[in-house]
Amino acid sequence: MIANDSTTASVIIDFDSIKNLTASEALAIDRLILDELSSDVVLINQIGHYIIGNGGKRLRPMLLLLAAKALGKVEDHHLIMAAVIEFIHTATLLHDDVVDESVLRRGKESANAVWGNAASVLVGDYLYSSAFEMMVRNRAIDCIVRGEGEATARDLLLALRDDAPLAPIPGITYREGDEIVANPEREAIAELDLIPSPFAAGLVDLAKPLVYYETSRGCPFSCAFCMSSIDSGVRSFPMARIERDLLLLMEGGARTVKLVDRTFNYDAARANQIWRFILAQRSASKFHFEIAADLLTGENLALLAEVPPGQFRFEIGVQSGGEETLAKVERSSSLARLFGNVRRLKAETNITVHLDLVAGLPGECVAEIDGDNHHRVVRLQTVEIRAFGICCFSQVLCQKE
Ligand code: SF4
Repeated sequence: MIANDSTTASVIIDFDSIKNLTASEALAIDRLILDELSSDVVLINQIGHYIIGNGGKRLRPMLLLLAAKALGKVEDHHLIMAAVIEFIHTATLLHDDVVDESVLRRGKESANAVWGNAASVLVGDYLYSSAFEMMVRNRAIDCIVRGEGEATARDLLLALRDDAPLAPIPGITYREGDEIVANPEREAIAELDLIPSPFAAGLVDLAKPLVYYETSRGCPFSCAFCMSSIDSGVRSFPMARIERDLLLLMEGGARTVKLVDRTFNYDAARANQIWRFILAQRSASKFHFEIAADLLTGENLALLAEVPPGQFRFEIGVQSGGEETLAKVERSSSLARLFGNVRRLKAETNITVHLDLVAGLPGECVAEIDGDNHHRVVRLQTVEIRAFGICCFSQVLCQKE
C-alpha cells in the first residue's frame, strides 16, 4: 500500500505486515472455527476442515478485525462475527464450485471433486445454518432484516441515522434490552421495478465466473418441504426491465448467469419471450435456469431446439418418481409429462439437463432411496442427477403450518 503526495510522507506496508497486525486474533478465530465445525456427522467434519484448512488469505475476517482495532479494540463478538463471515464465504465457495463444475479450488481438488455435488451442497447449507446460529448467540447482532430486504433495509438505515424508534419498521427483529422484539411482516414489494437495478448501477462484478440474476420472485406451487412455498404467488419484473438487465449482463461479458427464479417457466409465453431475447443477442454468456419440465409447451420445445450447445443448462426438480409421495407433499406436477419432456429435451435440444431428487420424503425411507421411484428417474439417463436429503421432514412441515 503506497500513500504519496507532496504533503504526506510515503508509507509502504506489505500484505504480511498488515496480516501480522491481527495474527493473534486470527489464531483465536481458527480455534473458534474448529470448535463450531465439530459435528457428529463425519462428512461435515471432513469437508469443513478440508475447505477451511485449504489456504486462503482470510481477507474478510481480517478486514473486520482491522476495523474493530481502528475503532478501539477487538472483543469476543468481533471474533464470532469474523468466524461467521468465514463460514458464509466458505459455504458460497462450496456451492459455487458445484454450479461452476469446478474441480480445483486454491490449487487443490475442490470439495465437490472429492466428495461429490450433493455432499458439497449439504455441507455448504450446514455452514450457512451454523453461521446464523452463531449470529443469534452474538449479542452484538442487535437487529436483523427478515424476508424481502430492499425496502426494510432502507427504512432501518434511515431510522438508525436519525436515531428514530425501530417499532414502526415492519420486517425487522431486534433486541430491546434482554428482550427480542419481532415487528410484523412487511408486505411484499408489489412493483418489482421500483427496486433499482444493481447491474445498471454498476454494483455487480461481471468478471466473476457466476452472476446471480432474477426475473421473478415467488413460486406458484406449494410443495410442503420447500420454504419458497411460503410466499404467496409470483411477481415478475416488467419485460422491458428484464431485457435491459439481460443486455447489460451479456454486453458486459457475464460468463454464466444463474437465474434464481424459483420456477422460471411458470408462464410459458413469458419464458419463451425471454429465451428468444437471449438467443437473438448471439451472446457467449451461458444461462442456468430452474424450470418445471412438465410445464414446457410445444412452442417452448421448438424454440429450445435452437439453443447452441452449452449455452443453456436446466435444473429440473423431480423430487420423487412416485406419484403417491408427490401427492403427500402437495407437489402438483405431472410425472408422465415431466418424463416425456425431459426425454424430448435430451433428444431434440443441446441443453444440459440435470434433475434434482429429494431423499427422505414421506413413504421413501432408506430402503426406497434406491427403489423404484428413484430408478424411474435414473432411467431417463440425463447428464446429472443430484440428490438432496431431508432429515427432519416433519419439522419443515410444521414450520410451514
Ligand atoms: S416448485 Fe420448486 S420452488 Fe416451487 S414450491 Fe415446489 S420445490 Fe419449491
